Amino acid sequence: MKILVIGSGGREHAICDKFYASKKVSKIFALPGNAGISEIAQCVTSFKSSDHEAIINFCKEKAIDFVFVGPEQPLVDGLVDDLEKSGIKAFGPSKYCAQLEGSKSFMKKIATDSNVATARYQAFLEADSAIEFALELGFPCVIKADGLAAGKGVVIAENILQLKETLVEFFAGKFGDASKKVIIEEFLEGVEVSHFALCDGKDFISLGFACDHKKVKENETGANTGGMGTFSPSPFVTLEIEEEILTKIVAPTLDAMKKSGNPFKGILFAGIILTKNGPKLLEFNTRFGDPETQVILPRIKTDFVDLIVAAIDGNLAKIKIEFAEDKKLVCVVMCANGYPEAYEKGSEVNLAAVKNIPDVKIFHAGTIFQDKKLIANGGRVLNVVASAKSFKEARVKAYDAINKIDWKEGFVRRDIGQKVENM
Ligand code: AMP
Repeated sequence: MKILVIGSGGREHAICDKFYASKKVSKIFALPGNAGISEIAQCVTSFKSSDHEAIINFCKEKAIDFVFVGPEQPLVDGLVDDLEKSGIKAFGPSKYCAQLEGSKSFMKKIATDSNVATARYQAFLEADSAIEFALELGFPCVIKADGLAAGKGVVIAENILQLKETLVEFFAGKFGDASKKVIIEEFLEGVEVSHFALCDGKDFISLGFACDHKKVKENETGANTGGMGTFSPSPFVTLEIEEEILTKIVAPTLDAMKKSGNPFKGILFAGIILTKNGPKLLEFNTRFGDPETQVILPRIKTDFVDLIVAAIDGNLAKIKIEFAEDKKLVCVVMCANGYPEAYEKGSEVNLAAVKNIPDVKIFHAGTIFQDKKLIANGGRVLNVVASAKSFKEARVKAYDAINKIDWKEGFVRRDIGQKVENM
């Protein structure tokens, strides 16, 4: 099979790595990919992923069997719809279904209509009524841009001053049209977990749970980031909690989409808080998470191509998925100094000492090759993923590898997975 993967991050590297491991795959193309991906796939940089016509022509020319869409923007822009209209198979939700991620108010309405437990909320187009509702909820309260804001459109306001400042910024168009509509919602307390469901429009398969460390510094302090590290599975999720999440959050949402005439295909990624009153939905994403994918995929033993093709063709009911049950995974993100604020690009990264370490994979997130040298080209640059029988051992392996990477301009959080290392 020939596959085209859209995207350029660590998530896409992990996805390409899974396809590369399948005997059914003869060639992988990545648009645009990165330096790490270029070692296992052919990177295409002559057109952009926003150019749907160029993608369609490329797929026809290369006889691509299916397109795997990694990031959210092309999904929200309707890439899957356009590919399917041209007779090209694609993995990912339609533009309509991608609204579960692309519009917080859409997601909230589906959740409320299908009795999925979520935080109390209301949507607003101006500040005065938003403030009134926030005062009713009390502090802290959560302010969210309605549309896509690259993971930066959520502010937890501790007081009225912060609330007012945030509303002024959002309504003034901090995130363009994405923050012209704003959601105010109740702050939920508890452990946060992410669940991944592989969906074919009729059935779904659980791919398991991961936990993410979002703050830039140790002990969950400092600024919010796209994710500094992850671990999987989640020891906080008991079988009972899992059952509740699958039957009361995932299944009713997929049923609601089906009933609306828009069956959901692709990955439904649920961000969930385990509150003292049970699991509550925070948000949906309609694709794999980054850096969650890097710890979810290595636990899957079933051929990844079989899973994805079954999801595209509506055949998941026929698949029996197998996991490496005893595998614990930790992913540590290496970032350029300064991230998530301003940072320098262009420093050299030397991975010679970590090429072949057992149970350790290095996924690239923001790298390019320049004059045969590996160069840091983003804020999040590398993902060091280690697997072992325990989290403690996996952490040791990940940080041992990190200590061997020659890149002075980079940093990591030193406590990824620490809170679960004895679980
Ligand atoms: P979201 O983009 O909706 O996932 O929000 C980003 C992050 O903000 C989440 O991963 C949570 O850590 C936090 N967050 C969002 N909504 C809430 C909420 N209602 N209560 C507590 N934390 C929240």
